[in-house]
Amino acid sequence: MADLKELFAKVDGQHEEMIALWKKLVNRDCGSDNKAGVDSVGQDIKEILEGLGFAVRFHEYEKAGNMLVADYGDFSKPFIVITGHMDTVFKDGQAAERPFTIRDGKAYGPGVLDMKGGITVALTALKLLKEIGYDRYAIRVILAGDEEVGHGNSNAAEDYMKEAKGAIMGFNMETGYLDNGIVVERKGCRRYRVEIDGVGAHAGNNPQDGRSAVEELAHKIIDIQALTDYEEGTTLNCGVIGGGTVANAVPEHAWCIVDVRFRTMKGLNRVDQAFKEIEKKQYVADTKTTIFPTITIAAMERTPESVALCERANELAVKAGLSPIHPKFVGGGSDSAYLVLAGVPTLCALGLRGEFNHTVREYAVVDSLFERTKLFITLLLGL
Ligand SMILES: [Zn+2]
Repeated sequence: MADLKELFAKVDGQHEEMIALWKKLVNRDCGSDNKAGVDSVGQDIKEILEGLGFAVRFHEYEKAGNMLVADYGDFSKPFIVITGHMDTVFKDGQAAERPFTIRDGKAYGPGVLDMKGGITVALTALKLLKEIGYDRYAIRVILAGDEEVGHGNSNAAEDYMKEAKGAIMGFNMETGYLDNGIVVERKGCRRYRVEIDGVGAHAGNNPQDGRSAVEELAHKIIDIQALTDYEEGTTLNCGVIGGGTVANAVPEHAWCIVDVRFRTMKGLNRVDQAFKEIEKKQYVADTKTTIFPTITIAAMERTPESVALCERANELAVKAGLSPIHPKFVGGGSDSAYLVLAGVPTLCALGLRGEFNHTVREYAVVDSLFERTKLFITLLLGL
């Protein structure tokens, strides 16, 4: 095995270059709805990877940032996948308004943590490994352009699974955690819209002719919330409701949006079945309920293979003199779900450590840029 100490010294010799690349990736608008912005990030990363000898192609989508796929090495050998996303949650103008800045060891800027830092780690690690002639595995890099919107306007979820299928390990460079936990399990999310039609009537003249959609919804919200099962890891939240028009009319229409978080498909299926019953039920005669899912982000289900991979990764980290890592479970989703669905043992959250994703308070610990690059090099050489 290559001398890790030498490689670590090389990482330390790259600080300026790494910060410059990180800054370049942050200082541009590339929100999920800015396809041109995301695609231009893809072009820059393509150039970098081609410079390292990768063959780069894109899955092109009409209404979403394209997915970059880059291959390196001999694919008759086992291959690994390295994944992430190029889009952010931020609107245009943010890059100019609050560009990449470092204050007191923390870096700020749109997407600095989620996940331009992780991309910088991966690109730097690949560059340094290429310099020592890395050929342990073939490598496939997959970077999505619309992760933050759950691939709602593209086939990226399916394309992810197709590209990852057959890989022996997966590494997602998503946002890391301050406690050094490496994610092996994430909840999935599905949203449903509940629509209720009743019968409108004047609240004073003929209320008895009305069928209140709001009243029906009120009953059903209680039923929906009661489906939460903490032990199973399935929680439901009727987060937004609406209905009626004026106080003196029996409301003809009401609706709500339900956010469901689930650990397993079994939990999601239970909710789905229950919703069919709730749909049929009538508390207020003559009302009609329709419930339908809008978006779904798959769960990253915990597998023994991912946990074992994390344990081996920790042994390697400790042996290399790096901070210990441990398997972690989190509520928020990521594309790692698709790697696991494709049957790939996966470690997620290998990116920088920091906090407050998706807000203007988002920051990344600058030192973790270098620590995480050392960790990733260690894992690619040892696992
Ligand atoms: Zn992310």
